[in-house]
Amino acid sequence: MEAVVLGSTGIKVNKNGFGALPIQRVSTEDAVKLARKAYEAGITFFDTARFYTDSEEKLGEAFDGMREKVYIATKTAAKNADEFWEQLGISLHNLRTDYIDIYQFHNPSFCPKPGDGTGLYEAMLEAKAQGKIRHIGITNHRLAVAEEAIESGLYETLQFPFCYLATDKDIALVEKCKKADMGFIAMKALSGGLITNSAAAYAFEAQYENVLPIWGVQREKELDEFISYIDNPPTMTDEIRALIENDRKELAGDFCRGCGYCMPCPAGIEINNCARMSLLLRRSPSALQLTPEVQAKMKKIENCLHCNKCKSKCPYGLDTPALLAKNYEDYKQVLAGNVSVN
Ligand code: SF4
Ligand code: SF4
Repeated sequence: MEAVVLGSTGIKVNKNGFGALPIQRVSTEDAVKLARKAYEAGITFFDTARFYTDSEEKLGEAFDGMREKVYIATKTAAKNADEFWEQLGISLHNLRTDYIDIYQFHNPSFCPKPGDGTGLYEAMLEAKAQGKIRHIGITNHRLAVAEEAIESGLYETLQFPFCYLATDKDIALVEKCKKADMGFIAMKALSGGLITNSAAAYAFEAQYENVLPIWGVQREKELDEFISYIDNPPTMTDEIRALIENDRKELAGDFCRGCGYCMPCPAGIEINNCARMSLLLRRSPSALQLTPEVQAKMKKIENCLHCNKCKSKCPYGLDTPALLAKNYEDYKQVLAGNVSVN
């Protein structure tokens, strides 16, 4: 079994972490079954967020009466100290616990620090002193904020997107965390569904001993794949290297990662899927994307107000309205049978 130690937290877990965002989309019964199955197989790190609707409640149900057997990380998107305490109280209640192992600021647009006027970091320290949280972490999609968090020395973990499409700067971030004795929690290791070969994804992450990937799990079949990597971890082979190289070429440049940070959209456009439809059509069974429901979602792009709210929020600096228009044009061509996909 490959294990990861999350820097100065000393938390040592199997290299397969459980990302609890997708369990919002399944019933409580199925979510509990997935989380328990993961635990029984040896997965002990579970990452959720206050923002993921009922995900915390589902984990609370799954680990009721056995809290100390797992590590739970959750996140707060609080903008001030009052919101911080309110959200922390709800998370503790939902998770049926009196402590959170790693409490993370959820993708803030700046790096919270003591004395910055928000009171957020002071609240973290107070929560830690009260024993309600054990370690302070931060998640982000912006390189500059992530780097500032590392340099600040205020955080024990960083959660950042990290998959085999990573740039040299992303890889440097992993090294900086290692030097700073900070845990690196890798989100989006499957790039929001664009990476379909999980063994290749694992083999990439395995090259970095301080990285803990948290796999977003919604179906038992997906979980079973990661469980199989506990005893048989995939390693980098020439074949996997070639596949990664090919994907890097195919996904080079500006593409939507499906993170959803640009939402909500005032025109009701489901940007996180619509802005990457061309890739979804070609990298997963296209029939799933050509249903009347998806067609209706894509048609909403016609209602785009060009308000640019999405563009200003995209952490990858994408021209989101233009990307939506491009994807819609391609979608119409595919629907009309003018362009063939799989
Ligand atoms: S520019 Fe269009 S897609 Fe973006 S937020 Fe505004 S209406 Fe929505
Ligand atoms: S357009 Fe940007 S913010 Fe919106 S889902 Fe895609 S990558 Fe995320």
